[in-house]
Parts: sequence; C-alpha cells; structure tokens
Amino acid sequence: MGVVVKKVDLTWLDRTYLWPIAKGMFITLKHFLKQTLTPTQKRLTVQYPDMKRPVLDGYRGLHELKRNEDNSVKCVACFMCAEACPARCITIEAEEFGDLNMLQGLAEKRPASFQIDMLRCIFCGMCQEACPKDAIWLRKNYELSCQSRAEMQLDKFNLMNTYTEKDGSERVVPEPVLKTSNNQPG
Ligand code: SF4
Ligand code: SF4
Repeated sequence: MGVVVKKVDLTWLDRTYLWPIAKGMFITLKHFLKQTLTPTQKRLTVQYPDMKRPVLDGYRGLHELKRNEDNSVKCVACFMCAEACPARCITIEAEEFGDLNMLQGLAEKRPASFQIDMLRCIFCGMCQEACPKDAIWLRKNYELSCQSRAEMQLDKFNLMNTYTEKDGSERVVPEPVLKTSNNQPG
C-alpha cells in the first residue's frame, strides 16, 4: 500500500535556509561538546589505531598454523581444510615426513607448502572446523593491510608466524638450503 507523504509547509524563516543550517550546526556542536567532555574510554568514536575496541570471543580474524612443542608444523597435510573451504583459497602440497617422532604423533605427512590467498578468504572458519588436528585457527587480528596483492598470499611460515609478536613465541624460519661446493673435500 502506498504511503501518503504530507507536504511540509515551510515558514518564511525556513525559506531563508539559514535557520535550518543553524539548527544543524547546533546539533553538530552539541555532539562535539558531548564527545569532547566524555572520558576517552566512554566515547563513541575510537581513536584508531591508538585505541582499539576489544574483539569479542569467537571473532574470526587472521589465521594461524599451529605448531608442536618443537616448533614443527602441526598440520599433517590431510587436505580437509582445502576441501571444506568454500572460497577455494587454500593450496597445499604434501610431502613425506621422514624423521617421525612422538610430537608429530607419528604423522607421515606434512605440508611442503601451505598457502592461503587472503584476498579470496571470507573468514568463514570452515577450515578450522574441518581440521582433525586442530592445526589451523582463526584468531583475532583484523589488521590486514598490504601494499600489493602478492603480500596477501600467505605461505606456511607466514601463517606459522602470524601471532609470534602477540604470543612472544619464537619465529619459525624456513630451513636453510644447503649449498654444495665443488671444492669441498671428499
Ligand atoms: S576461513 Fe573460510 S574462506 Fe578462509 S581459508 Fe578458511 S575455509 Fe577458506
Ligand atoms: S590444517 Fe588441518 S585440515 Fe588443513 S591440511 Fe593441515 S591438518 Fe589437514
């Protein structure tokens, strides 16, 4: 059903357009003074990035690939997360894991590479839900700025180090590639 919009009869003061502007400016000034006189923590406006609102439990932010106690990756390259991902943004290459130990739960595989295209990720959390090893978590970091598209392709080590500063944990770096020299003895 249609709605009848009543015509507003403007007074001569309204027709000057100065009075409505003054009323608008008064409202703006009232809010400005109210916010200025309110203690910083209670203001509606957050002075980001100096101030940040607390993130609620269950928030799904930047991923972390979890580690075992010896800093090895917890992921066993089972591809469950990649299969569950509706955005198809997880790419995994598996490799056999020769030096089995108890920390890895005698797993036979690990990811040689594990990449998430953060530009395609929709932060749905399906990868975390699907993971049988509890190896991928979506935590609370929402500050995902970058200078190029390439920076948003996070690899295994990026993902293992996403929360090192916050947790005070050790950064995991790729193992150095051994250089062989023709002049080496033997
Ligand atoms: S949060 Fe969702 S879209 Fe992002 S990687 Fe995980 S499953 Fe894929
Ligand atoms: S993160 Fe979890 S679900 Fe994904 S491949 Fe690794 S173990 Fe499997």
